[in-house]
Amino acid sequence: MFEEEKKQIVDMSLRLYNEQLIVGTWGNVSMRLHCENGEELYLVTPSGMEYEKTKSEDLVIVNGEGNIVEGHRNPTSELKMHIKIYKSINNVDAIIHTHSTCATACAVAGVTIPMMVEDMVQHIGGDIRVAKYALPGSDELADYAVEALKDRNGALLKNHGAIGIGKTMLDAYKSCVLIEKSAKILICAKILGHINLLSTEDAQKMIEYYNNRYGQK
Ligand SMILES: [Zn+2]
Repeated sequence: MFEEEKKQIVDMSLRLYNEQLIVGTWGNVSMRLHCENGEELYLVTPSGMEYEKTKSEDLVIVNGEGNIVEGHRNPTSELKMHIKIYKSINNVDAIIHTHSTCATACAVAGVTIPMMVEDMVQHIGGDIRVAKYALPGSDELADYAVEALKDRNGALLKNHGAIGIGKTMLDAYKSCVLIEKSAKILICAKILGHINLLSTEDAQKMIEYYNNRYGQK
């Protein structure tokens, strides 16, 4: 069951690893599964496995309580955060959590990434907030992540990393790429000494255009 979704997660995990958005066994990827009987399940990466070696059969399907429905591995240690986000935000079917370098630098500094450039504002939906600190895998981290993601497709996790969400796996990937790119731009601009922000009015126009008219629709 759900072979296409499993392939998407395996392929995306390898892509994230090859593009150095995740290193070693850290970070995790998941999808919301819509069952024919109306039930909702979640497909997640296993805990602490090398992404180069992870195959479809290593992925784990859990229910809303986090209990394993299919799979022989332990699910990701950030399972609570993934489930909490799916239960709190309706139009999200894919989540990627990374420890990418520049995003984590901003998360360590506790710096919100302000509205600076078009692509970030359009896809993320505004500035990129920093969720309050809580231990990895905790209920508190799940709560704080949801809080920071309000009306956004991405957030930073204080002293930890980043989280990108989206309707599709590609959308969640774009969120993670844009968080890392924006973090790098912010750090570079700070070195140059001055940051010109987009006005809230222009940012809103860009978000409206992206959501309703951008691309080949
Ligand atoms: Zn993490």
